[in-house]
Amino acid sequence: MTTVARISWLEIDKYYNLLRSQKKDSKIWEFLEKYPISRNDFKELVKRGWKVSKELEYDFGRLDRKNLKILIRKDLIPGYERDVTLFHEIGHIFYENIDNSLSESENEIIVEWTARKARTNHILLRNAINCFGLEPAIYDLPSCRAYTKIRSKSLENIFTKTMMEDLVIN
Ligand SMILES: [Zn+2]
Repeated sequence: MTTVARISWLEIDKYYNLLRSQKKDSKIWEFLEKYPISRNDFKELVKRGWKVSKELEYDFGRLDRKNLKILIRKDLIPGYERDVTLFHEIGHIFYENIDNSLSESENEIIVEWTARKARTNHILLRNAINCFGLEPAIYDLPSCRAYTKIRSKSLENIFTKTMMEDLVIN
């Protein structure tokens, strides 16, 4: 990932749509529609040995394909940037080599657009974070929806247990 992480959604969306009209014969568009990132993909990547490793100094993320590592910046705390970076690098794994006529910056736009879209799906977000054993973070509506059910359920369990104990004591 180069500098796309710093570009606003409106601009990413604008570049993406421009690219779609300029390169409408590229096979990437049909591929993206046919194979959107799905929750099975995360499981499959982990099964194949992919891991997330926090070891970068400056870049947000990068792939170490040889060692099956999704490299993420060391100081990226669990939150929006960490999550988009994860989806971005996963996007590179799946979509980077579909159309070799696309330039590096064109690939960056496509992968970033796909990553931000996919991350807004709370089920995908939860699955990605869980599959790679990362710490969940709540910072917006999708991330809240991704983890709220789990949180309220565990609270409910603790509460029920306490009430039962109280009943026994009385
Ligand atoms: Zn990238």
